[in-house]
Amino acid sequence: MADKNLCVLMCIDGKLVESSSKKTITVINPANEEVVGTIPAGTAADVDAAVKAARKAFDKGEWGKTTPAKRAEALQRMAALLAEKMPELTAILQAETGSTAMKAMVDVGMPIQLLNYYADIIRSPLRYDVGHVSPMPDEAGAPYSHGFVQRAPIGVCAGIIPWNFPFVLAFLKIAPGLAAGNTMIIKPPSEAPLATVEFIRMVNEAGILPPGVLSVVTGSGREVGESLAAHPLVDKVAFTGSTEVGRRIMELASPTVKVVTLELGGKSANIILDDADLDLAVEVSLFAFLFHSGQVCLSGTRCFAPRSRYEEILKKMADRASKVTIGDPTDPNTTMGPVFSRVQKETVESYIQSGISEGARLIYGGKPLQGKLFEKGFWVGPTIFADATNDMKIAREEIFGPVLTVIPYDTEDDAVEMANDTIYGLCGAVQSTNYARAVGVAKRLRTGTVWINTYHTQGCNTPFSGWKQSGVGTELGIEGLMAYTKSKYIHVDLVCDGPGRYSFLFNK
Ligand code: NAP
Ligand code: MG
Repeated sequence: MADKNLCVLMCIDGKLVESSSKKTITVINPANEEVVGTIPAGTAADVDAAVKAARKAFDKGEWGKTTPAKRAEALQRMAALLAEKMPELTAILQAETGSTAMKAMVDVGMPIQLLNYYADIIRSPLRYDVGHVSPMPDEAGAPYSHGFVQRAPIGVCAGIIPWNFPFVLAFLKIAPGLAAGNTMIIKPPSEAPLATVEFIRMVNEAGILPPGVLSVVTGSGREVGESLAAHPLVDKVAFTGSTEVGRRIMELASPTVKVVTLELGGKSANIILDDADLDLAVEVSLFAFLFHSGQVCLSGTRCFAPRSRYEEILKKMADRASKVTIGDPTDPNTTMGPVFSRVQKETVESYIQSGISEGARLIYGGKPLQGKLFEKGFWVGPTIFADATNDMKIAREEIFGPVLTVIPYDTEDDAVEMANDTIYGLCGAVQSTNYARAVGVAKRLRTGTVWINTYHTQGCNTPFSGWKQSGVGTELGIEGLMAYTKSKYIHVDLVCDGPGRYSFLFNK
């Protein structure tokens, strides 16, 4: 287990510092409400110090001049350090987030792959940062000249991270950001910052990166997050979180026209076609909305089921839901842990009440869990609504908890139309035994990711982007690296034919 009461400091310009306000924030364990640790409540002045250090490291320090090979070496050293510290960091992450072992493994383990993946890309002889050579067309009036495209780092980049996958989501930014040669400042979520802050401290202490290249400033979104998004010396802000705060980030970034990447909320549709293998489809549908107690932006929370097989599907869903083991997330037998906070529990419960009052039929869960274990901590069991319509609040708003809304449909066109009738466009899924038919439906869904006969699978190399109000830009894959670069065209004249070329300008 993690040490009780882990008091971490921020890491700014390679040094461990408390907040200039001297105030702290307490982090608690969602499974039992015990204190896990404290972090500094950072201020705008702390952000300013981190930004100036990042600026100096980028503009004047050695990092701005490093070769991709040197940066690849640094990323690989970070990956090796993380692999060594994984048990310790996983225990901290489980305590601060209430994650099961399987979820914690994704959260802490995938960053190792990400660091190595981007290290491999930038070391490749097919250099990512030097693009195609373009001879000038004759009509451009500059024969015998050519140019080439370079991908340059953007500069100082800030990453603002939510609490549901606080570690890996930081590395979706840190790994490509550092690989491309930027300097980075991370603002972790106030309620689950400890594993990230600890690891950034370890990286700095190991001397893997020069001071100021990777800093972490903790504290509230309102103060630290807003200061980063608005700071005139920050060149890019990469935000993962709610759509509501995403809109605010765009607003704050606009006066200085920063590059903005937003990965926001979702209300993803999972369409079961009438030819699906129902046992598999039901299992996928449960995993889609129960992984990490439904606190995943990708969650498949609207299930569209064919009316011809509706009752059969509902029966199988209720049966499978009863086989989920809810409990202490550190117990290896547990398959579902608590929700993240008291606020989250109350929000989810109010959505359950809203579903009931709007007339949806509760077919599983929806009541407080009974037992000694559930007297402390924040618990909501799997909850399934049937006979819902797509215009009910439970079908339109992101609940971010273990609640599924199952909506019947008559035709494939109806299912696609309802699936797309949302402000969100993050993910979707199709369950079918007919591959060609499933791909046809997948192509019609207006989302950045669609799974067929599975859910939640993502790799380092698969681009991830939110469509509509689920986001702007792309993370992961080669596109996720390019998102930390700007293209630069360098034009070279090869003629060198002396003065006279611009004689049209001079008439004396
Ligand atoms: P959130 O409230 O939007 O917060 C996300 C981060 O932004 C936190 O670090 C938060 O700081 C900070 N923040 C809050 N208000 C801010 C402001 N005015 N200016 C700047 N920063 C601010 O989201 P959350 O509740 O932590 O996470 C749940 C949401 O994240 C869900 O909507 C989920 O769908 C979304 N999400 C999306 C993805 C994706 O990739 N698309 C992945 C995971 C989660 P504090 O912690 O101090 O409040
Ligand atoms: Mg929040």
